[in-house]
Amino acid sequence: MTQTKRNPSVVIIGAGMTGILMTIKLRQAGITDIVVLEKKESVGGTWRENTYPGAACDVPAHMYTYSFEPNPNWSRFFARGPEIKQYFEHVVNKYDVARDIRFNEAVTDAHYTDGKWTVKTNKGQTYIADFIVCATGILHHPQFPNIAGLGDFKGAKFHTAQWDHSVEITANTRVGVIGTGSTAAQAIPELIKTGAQVSVFQRTPQWLMHLPDFTFSKTSRKLMTRFPIITKFHRNTGKFFLEHFFTKAVTGQFIQKHLLSFLCKANLRLSIKDKALREKLRPHYQVGCKRVIINSTFYKGIQKPNAHLITEGIERITETGIITKDGNHHELDVLVLSTGFNAFNFMRPMNLVGRNNVHIDKAWAHKIKAYRSMLLSDYPNFFLMLGPNTPIGNFSVIAMSEVQTDYVIKLIDKWRDREFDEFEAKQQAIDDFTAYVKEGLKGTSWVGGCQSWYLDADGDPILWPYTWQRWVDEMKDPQMEHINTTTF
Ligand code: NAP
Repeated sequence: MTQTKRNPSVVIIGAGMTGILMTIKLRQAGITDIVVLEKKESVGGTWRENTYPGAACDVPAHMYTYSFEPNPNWSRFFARGPEIKQYFEHVVNKYDVARDIRFNEAVTDAHYTDGKWTVKTNKGQTYIADFIVCATGILHHPQFPNIAGLGDFKGAKFHTAQWDHSVEITANTRVGVIGTGSTAAQAIPELIKTGAQVSVFQRTPQWLMHLPDFTFSKTSRKLMTRFPIITKFHRNTGKFFLEHFFTKAVTGQFIQKHLLSFLCKANLRLSIKDKALREKLRPHYQVGCKRVIINSTFYKGIQKPNAHLITEGIERITETGIITKDGNHHELDVLVLSTGFNAFNFMRPMNLVGRNNVHIDKAWAHKIKAYRSMLLSDYPNFFLMLGPNTPIGNFSVIAMSEVQTDYVIKLIDKWRDREFDEFEAKQQAIDDFTAYVKEGLKGTSWVGGCQSWYLDADGDPILWPYTWQRWVDEMKDPQMEHINTTTF
């Protein structure tokens, strides 16, 4: 007699892009005992948090879309933050995801004992689960700069990921922005448009690539709704660009790498008229070493009369502004910290405690690593989504989460068929995977002589150095020889 499949209990941590996807896919696989724990009051993760002016996605909108839920109504080629958030809300409504979400419940502890996970939240609730899927995202812990006097500033001060919309910025406001990464490149032109005097404190210049951003007309959206093949065409074009140009360029393919380099250098040359300003904006490291900023507004904005690029370096922050290393005091009303994120926290500060009381801080004390970015040793029946060495610098994270979700479901399915009760990565498999990735990283742009959020404490980028297709192929089926399983 064939046994029916088991129905596991699954706790998903986070109701952002990955948590929403995972809920839908688990249900479609027939798993019904799902709880999604979301620390905030609504869905959307990064797109809920990042409300700074100009927030947008630098992956073409039709590619930054779940494959099973195309959106013929994207209003522009690179969608803005609010529209992306709306898209996720639409998916949540359509698939009734919210019925499994517990909002305003942050996980404080997750402890594995006797074949089960015990998950505790800040609301004093306890959940017992067979599996944990950690869908907490990558860039969600704002990094504050370690600059003397930061606490002294008396004006309005906030990080871009915590934008204070109650602060009015008008033509007379003196705004200082620290940082010139992807976020700043989007926010600064919007600040400049208000007429405010915007002082941009640049520590290291960045390479920018210009890609035309355009709106989809009403007619083209109607056509896409009527003929889904057109939407698919846009998606495939975006995929082709990312897979065969961008990913290959940053992972060291000769032609693409040189073409990307040429495009960024030509963009700087053609966009910035003033030679002195151009030289201040010219990076002295390989194109692609830091994430290439895909942007069509920053260079225009920074040449406006109310924009001031300051490259002298920050000495300290005062009650009323910033003193730079040349002794100048820049008076400010508002200080915007566009200083990025700590990409190495992953699920922390949650107390994640695995078998034999191994705390995640101890497991990752020497290096943050995971087998195929997802599986840990000593943390049975646990999946880390978008973990270290996922292709996060190269592609659409939605496509990555979809590939990883299929992998999760395949492993859980084996549990449902009683092939085992417990699984975890073999330590050797984690070490081998880390070494395999490290070997590939040698040829990439990310080790091209710059500091970036990609680099761990050893200077190793936490990215995937090979092709997208290779990653997809290797994630296709769990290789059980790399995984320890136990049957109770
Ligand atoms: P980031 O790329 O890490 O940039 C942080 C900026 O702050 C850098 O310019 C850095 O200078 C500067 N900085 C940090 N500490 C400083 C200090 N103490 N003094 C002076 N300057 C300091 O952060 P981000 O711009 O928020 O972007 C992070 C990532 O988010 C991006 O790479 C991207 O993956 C993602 N993102 C994506 C989009 C999108 O369109 N999809 C949009 C925004 C962000 P140094 O370069 O000298 O360190």
